[in-house]
Amino acid sequence: MSHNNNDLTLSAPLSGPVLTLGNVPDEVFASGAMGDGIAIDPLNDCLHAPCDGVVIHVARTGHALTIRADNGAEVLLHVGIDTVELKGEGFALLVKEGARVSNGQALVRFDLDRIARQCKSLISLIIVTNGDQFELQPIASQTIKVGEPMLRVVSRHASTARTLVADNAHTEANASIRITHRGGLHARPAALIRKTAQGFSSQSHLHFAGKSASCDSLIGLMGLGIGEQDEVQVTCRGKDCDAALQALIAALSVAVSEESHAPVAVTPRPANTEAGVLQGVCAAPGLVCGPLFRLNGIELPQDPGNHSADEQLQHLDSALEQVRSEIRNTLDHARQRKAVEEEEIFAAHLALLEDPTLLEAATGSIEQGNAATHAWRDAIQAQCAVLLALGKPLFAERANDLRDLQQRVLRALLGEAWHFELPAGAIVAAHELTPSDLLQLSAQNAAGICMAEGGATSHVAILARGKGLPCVVALGSEVLDVPPGQRVVLDAVNGRLELTPDDARHAQVHQIRDAQKLRRQEQQAQAQAPAKTLDGVSIEVAANVASSAEAQIAHENGADGVGLLRTEFLFVDRRTAPDEQEQRQAYQAVLDAMGDKSVIIRTIDVGGDKQLDYLPLPAEANPVLGLRGIRMAQVRPELLDQQLRALLQVSPLQRCRILLPMVSEVDELLHIRQRLDELCAELELTQRPELGVMIEVPAAALMAEQLAEHADFLSIGTNDLSQYTLAMDRDHAGLAARVDAMHPALLRLIAQTCIGAAKHGRWVGVCGALASDPLATPVLIGLGVSELSVSPPQIAEIKDRVRHMDAAQCRQLSLGLLNLSSAKAVRQACQHHWPLS
Ligand code: PEP
Ligand code: MG
Repeated sequence: MSHNNNDLTLSAPLSGPVLTLGNVPDEVFASGAMGDGIAIDPLNDCLHAPCDGVVIHVARTGHALTIRADNGAEVLLHVGIDTVELKGEGFALLVKEGARVSNGQALVRFDLDRIARQCKSLISLIIVTNGDQFELQPIASQTIKVGEPMLRVVSRHASTARTLVADNAHTEANASIRITHRGGLHARPAALIRKTAQGFSSQSHLHFAGKSASCDSLIGLMGLGIGEQDEVQVTCRGKDCDAALQALIAALSVAVSEESHAPVAVTPRPANTEAGVLQGVCAAPGLVCGPLFRLNGIELPQDPGNHSADEQLQHLDSALEQVRSEIRNTLDHARQRKAVEEEEIFAAHLALLEDPTLLEAATGSIEQGNAATHAWRDAIQAQCAVLLALGKPLFAERANDLRDLQQRVLRALLGEAWHFELPAGAIVAAHELTPSDLLQLSAQNAAGICMAEGGATSHVAILARGKGLPCVVALGSEVLDVPPGQRVVLDAVNGRLELTPDDARHAQVHQIRDAQKLRRQEQQAQAQAPAKTLDGVSIEVAANVASSAEAQIAHENGADGVGLLRTEFLFVDRRTAPDEQEQRQAYQAVLDAMGDKSVIIRTIDVGGDKQLDYLPLPAEANPVLGLRGIRMAQVRPELLDQQLRALLQVSPLQRCRILLPMVSEVDELLHIRQRLDELCAELELTQRPELGVMIEVPAAALMAEQLAEHADFLSIGTNDLSQYTLAMDRDHAGLAARVDAMHPALLRLIAQTCIGAAKHGRWVGVCGALASDPLATPVLIGLGVSELSVSPPQIAEIKDRVRHMDAAQCRQLSLGLLNLSSAKAVRQACQHHWPLS
């Protein structure tokens, strides 16, 4: 189709305050990735055509459409932010794709209140998506009414020609830059280059080894294969070419040198020093061998072809939009946690999803009658092949990012839940798993888990320990390159993944496992008996559970009680909040599963790294230091009241103990105690359950004596106590080996907690991961802990360990550990004093 290329004035499609794109609360629009334009915060409920033209695309969900004006400008009109999630509800389309519309014509009517209530923002976008051919000049800057002139769209063909005549010397600028650092122009730096180029109206290209790529295309840039010591030409064409060139040179230097210090794929972690062995960090112990299964494959059946291109394009559009919005969520979280690397990686993923090369390839294939699924897969695989053919490891690794996106979009297209067919006894390798992945893998009898990323105290790790599923985290991205089906050995205790074990090693692993099995059977035979040290000190060995089913297993495994029920995991896969009655039933079920044993139920601990769909909390700059744990009662007191009421109605109430997470001052405890008394009175209860406090921030440990005056017991959460004492994120892959509760500072806080509690005759338990570590058992006994709440599969082992200890000797030797120089030194000393056989 030919266009008149005339300049055009767009009129306002909505009434309301006008904003520049930079002020739009959405990364993609704000960055200009979709094109240049303007935004309006609408006060009316109908979108009008900003010009005469043809509707060339309508989103199935009615929230967005694109009009091609007669001068060829393609104007995307997008109502609200993340409105795709309304799935069409609240939108009434008044025009069809292909219709010719005239300036001011009503296009879409929408429910203003609904969008305001259910979506991120009402702010609506007017974007010229083929901005390379047009230059935009805003006319309105404040509040505007429908039909008023808003934006000039000036054809670049005309304006460039004019500039060329006026000032030919300044329409093109170029320079060379040598890449001196290790690394190269792969996903993250390429995304930075792309973003930089988008800040200018000039068109910029990089040229290398006879190939060129537009700076608009991440894939194009990566496909150049620019690496260390390569000399690259940069050209910028346009009226701001000089400034664009300077900015790109600066971005190239920064991007590439930064990459050399912090390469995306090489997260700091234990070094791989042994050939054929990947070294990571133990998240759940065990020794297993089996075939490796890479978790990501969706196999598509043969495509019969002949699909309706329009339909398939719409499918692809909405799948892409769904994945983009998931990634945007991840980005928001990463940003809140100031996880810069994660943010950069996902920003690159987002850019890849918008990459013109990729989208054009997929669209082209769909237009030939292929299904959106196959078109997307083929487009990705073609790009992976380009990256792999470069023969440079860093670029080959980026193919993994593309494959990730391939899977995510395919899942969205197929409307598939995360589902995988596991070969029996497989050792699963994944980038990083979520708690729900892990639950599914465990249900499918995976033998072990290894992850490129992740931390040993993450909730996935906790779940793996709970399931007795050997798990190693922070292995690095090499683990994703191991060919599927290869037989490997996962020596989780030592954080090792052996890639090429020989037959003798296999036989040895089987032998060790048989011996362990025998020992476990012996321990298991004693598991129901109480655990006493050699000198007669009773240590209660309870279990950490997340459901009544786990409580049942714990009971069968000999748990002396439940030491921690994490109530936030009870309804984890729910979208609606459980009411009081449902909660009561869930708590009662755990009590019932435990026979006559006591159950410690922790009030809900959301916030930080634990988020629940049914309980959205305000976004925070630093959620781990924000409204988490008991602090949530500050903003949602009714939720805590509801939970306490549910807890007070279980029977028998004396078997239920209530535990408060993240307490940091005595007043918090006093406040909840008082509230509990009021609720008991309301429910006409004569007895009151015991109330305990978690010691998981240093402030609580330091105030243990004062807390113990008002609490019935204290329970130390070593996972968070390590994180907050050592100032190391418990989920940080690079710090996983160092977030170790055996650090002498932690041991001092544990000692102080026990001394403070003893002054008021209170008992102290440990429910963090340290309690499940047999090396720590004598230390905890020695420091005065009398209850260990461990993961259910480890009850028998920890009881056995207790029975081999002399408490007096533990007391004497553990004091010496407080003066050692590091967690490592403590561990060495423990091995020496109380060797693990
Ligand atoms: C802890 O912090 O040690 C703890 C037991 O709580 P969670 O792991 O659930 O944060
Ligand atoms: Mg905690």
